[in-house]
Amino acid sequence: MLERLGDWKRSSYCAEVTAADIGKTVTLMGWVQRRRDHGGLIFIDLRDRAGLVQLVFNPDAGEVHARAHDLRSEFVIAVKGTVGERPVGTENPFLKTGKVEVVAKELKVLNDSAPLPFMIEDDTDVAETTRLKYRYLDLRRAALQKKLLLRHRVAMSTRNYLAENGFIEMETPVLTKSTPEGARDFLVPSRLTPGSFFALPQSPQLFKQILMISGFDRYFQIVKCFRDEDLRADRQPEFTQIDAEMSFVDREDVIEVMEGLIKRIFEEAGAELKPPFPRMTYAEAVGRFGVDNPDTRFGLELKDLTDSLKGSGFKVFADAASKGGVIKALCVKNGAVFSRKDLDDLTEIAVSFGARGLAWVKITEEGWQSPIAKFLSDAEKETIVAISGAEKGDLLLFGADRASVANTVLGRLRLNIGGRLGLIPKEGYNFVWITEFPMLDYDEAEKRFVAVHHPFTAPMDEDLDKLDTEPLKVRAKAYDLVLNGSEIGGGSIRIHRSDIQARIFEKLGIAKEEAELRFGFLLDALKFGTPPHGGIAFGLDRIMSIITGSESIRDVIAFPKTQKGTDLMSDAPSAVDQKQLDEIFIRVARKVEKQEKA
Ligand code: ASP
Repeated sequence: MLERLGDWKRSSYCAEVTAADIGKTVTLMGWVQRRRDHGGLIFIDLRDRAGLVQLVFNPDAGEVHARAHDLRSEFVIAVKGTVGERPVGTENPFLKTGKVEVVAKELKVLNDSAPLPFMIEDDTDVAETTRLKYRYLDLRRAALQKKLLLRHRVAMSTRNYLAENGFIEMETPVLTKSTPEGARDFLVPSRLTPGSFFALPQSPQLFKQILMISGFDRYFQIVKCFRDEDLRADRQPEFTQIDAEMSFVDREDVIEVMEGLIKRIFEEAGAELKPPFPRMTYAEAVGRFGVDNPDTRFGLELKDLTDSLKGSGFKVFADAASKGGVIKALCVKNGAVFSRKDLDDLTEIAVSFGARGLAWVKITEEGWQSPIAKFLSDAEKETIVAISGAEKGDLLLFGADRASVANTVLGRLRLNIGGRLGLIPKEGYNFVWITEFPMLDYDEAEKRFVAVHHPFTAPMDEDLDKLDTEPLKVRAKAYDLVLNGSEIGGGSIRIHRSDIQARIFEKLGIAKEEAELRFGFLLDALKFGTPPHGGIAFGLDRIMSIITGSESIRDVIAFPKTQKGTDLMSDAPSAVDQKQLDEIFIRVARKVEKQEKA
C-alpha cells in the first residue's frame, strides 16, 4: 500500500548523516538501492542525490519490519529513525556514511517500481542504447550524478567569474536567420510566413557582435548551439557553449580574462592551473605536431627534411619538394621492433588521411632496413639521422607530399603511435593557445576561398595588404585554446569596419547583393559607431568530458543524442501529423527508407 508524504519533512540528504548525528532522529527520503535480509535484521541501502546510507530494520520493530521485507530495488520510501554507530567490524570505509546506520522506526512507501531493465550500479556493462532508452534510470547512477553535479558547479563558477569581471548575461534568439557559412543549419519552417524558414543558431556570433555595437561592453551566455552535421565520436547536434564577447579589447585582453575563467572552472574539479598558458603560432603547431590542436603531453615531433632532401635520388622525395610540398619525418624511439602488421596498420592510417603510402626505415644492428634505403645516398642517410636524432633501434616514418597532407598524416600517426606506446600521460592538463591562424583556405570543391575561423574575424594588421596579392598568407587575429590535444575553445578579434567586412565577403566569393541579403543587417550595424571588439566560445561539453575523464561526451550531457542524432528515450525525431505539416506548408517529397518499408 502506497502512502502520502503528509507532514513529513526531510531532515537531510542520506549521505549527510554523520557520526555527529549519533543519537539523533532523522527523516530521510530516497530510493532503495539494495535490500539484504540477515536472519531477522533487514538492511536497506537508501540512496538519494548525495549518496547512500544504511538503514536497519530490527525484528522487534513489528509492522515496520514486516513491511521492509517487501521493499524492492528502486522503491521510493521515507524513513524516520535514530542514527546509531555501526557495530565494530561492520563499518564500510568506502562509504561516506560508513561509520553509521539509521535504525528505522517509521516507514512510508511512497512509490513502488517495476522490475528494472538494468541495475543502478556504477560498473555497468549494459549496452549504451539501453542506457539511453532508460536515461532516467541511467542518470540515477552515482557516476553520472557526480558528473552532472560538477557540470552545475562549473556553470555556476562561470557565471560568477564572468559577472565579477563585468560580463552581462544576455539571451539571444533561438529562431534566427539562416546564414549558411560553415556547418549545415537546422531549419524551422515559419507558419506565419509560408515558404520561409528560421535557422537554429550555430552560434550567437552576430548577435553578440551587435550587442557590442549596442554598447553592452561585455556579454556572456551559456548557450545551446546547433549544427546539422554527420556526427563524429565527440560531437552532438546540439551542444553548449560558454560564449563571450568584449569591447575595446585586443587579443591579449581576451586571453587574459579567459585564462582566469579556465582556472576558476578547473578549480571546481580540484585542479590548480597556473596561467598564463603556453602559446604557439599555427605555423609552429602544424610544423612540429602536424595539426592545429597539438597534444603537447608527449614529444614525438615532426622533423622537416625538405631543404636537405629536395635533391634526393628518391623520386617520391624529390617530386614532393619540386611541387612545393614538404618532406617530413617522425622518429619513433625503439620503434624498430614494430612488426609487419604494425607497419601495415600505420600505412592504412596514412592512406586514410590522403597519403599514397608510407615510407619507413628501421635502424637495426645490421643497418638500415627499409624498402627505400637503396634510393638514399650515405650523405642523405647521415642528414636524416642528424635532423631526426634517430639511433639504433628506432623507426623512421616519412611523409612527402603537399604540406597539408604530409602534416596531417604524420600528425595522425604521431597520435596513434603515442597511444600504442603509452607515451601519453593519463594525468595532467596541457593547455596551449594557438594563434595567428591563416585567415583563408581555398576550397578545391567549391573553387573559392573560405574563412578558416569565420567571415567576421579580423585579419592581422600587418597582413592586410596581402589580401589581394597573397590571400593564403594573410593571418587572422584568431586564437584557439587546446587542452591535451582537444580544441576546447576558439575566438577572434572581429572586423569592426563595414568597408573591411564588405571586402572580406567579396574575397569569400559572396557577391555584393548576396552579402546584402544575408548579412545586410550586420553591414548596416557596423556603419553606426562599432567599437573594436572580440570574443571567444568554449565547448562546455568537451571541457566537462575532459575534466571528468569521460570516454564519451554523452556522459556529461543529461539527455544526449546518439551518433545518429536521435533521442532514444523520447524517440525524436519522429513523424508528425499531416495536419501539422499542412499548417506550415510542408510536403515531404522523399520518404526515408524506414518509412517506405513500414
Ligand atoms: N562563434 C565562434 C564559434 O562558435 C566563437 C567565436 O568566434 O567567438 O566557434
